Amino acid sequence: MKLIRIKLRDESIRYARIVGDGKAQLFSDDYFSPLTDETVELKDSTLLSPVVFKKALCIGLNYSEHIKELDFIRPEKPVVFLKPSTALLDPFGRIEHPSLSERVEYEAELCVVIKDRCRNISESDVDKYILGYTIANDVTARDLQEKTGQWTICKGFDTFLPIGPYISDEVDPDDLRIQSILNGKVMQDDRTSHLIFPVRYLVSYLSKCMTLERYDVILTGTPKGVSPMKKGDEIICRIESLGELVNYN
Ligand code: MG
Repeated sequence: MKLIRIKLRDESIRYARIVGDGKAQLFSDDYFSPLTDETVELKDSTLLSPVVFKKALCIGLNYSEHIKELDFIRPEKPVVFLKPSTALLDPFGRIEHPSLSERVEYEAELCVVIKDRCRNISESDVDKYILGYTIANDVTARDLQEKTGQWTICKGFDTFLPIGPYISDEVDPDDLRIQSILNGKVMQDDRTSHLIFPVRYLVSYLSKCMTLERYDVILTGTPKGVSPMKKGDEIICRIESLGELVNYN
């Protein structure tokens, strides 16, 4: 199932599932409510981020080639940080370049969406608590990453977390091609099979650190090939079977 959140012509915001032929069937409320008989044409609606999260847990330094390009040390345990809900940006939205930074970079990442509240779950139970997968761009003010001592500022600006275009429960998260394309040029190109800490390990680990709640998201880290964007640039994050997340600067 492919899940989306859309704004209709009458400005109402609805949760829906893609049913093919450019159409979507509406839920009565969110993804956990009954489906209605109503279908809409996708071309008549505006795509929004498919999830509105309470917390975004993000993993840094999870591909060895990316660790090398940033000149960091391979971590023994996952490097975890949080992004605020105010960082969320819709597909096709514009990434703001903050006045405090002179170097804003993209980071294409596989994003896990949590289905149900959970805590202390084992890796073998993780799938029960995952709604599906989507694409995120962990936008980063790289010049502030070291200067500010930790990563809250450099990764927490408004619009620094585009998510979309849809959530799918039909993929194997452990082997997906992941790419970013800046102004038509492929900049990142790797597979999630190269994650140091794989998806099920991460969800289990994080559930032992704090309660995970419905619609929390987990960003799983970015491959090598990060570089700056400038105003006017188009950035596409693409993951096999999950479509393309397009944003502008
Ligand atoms: Mg990242």
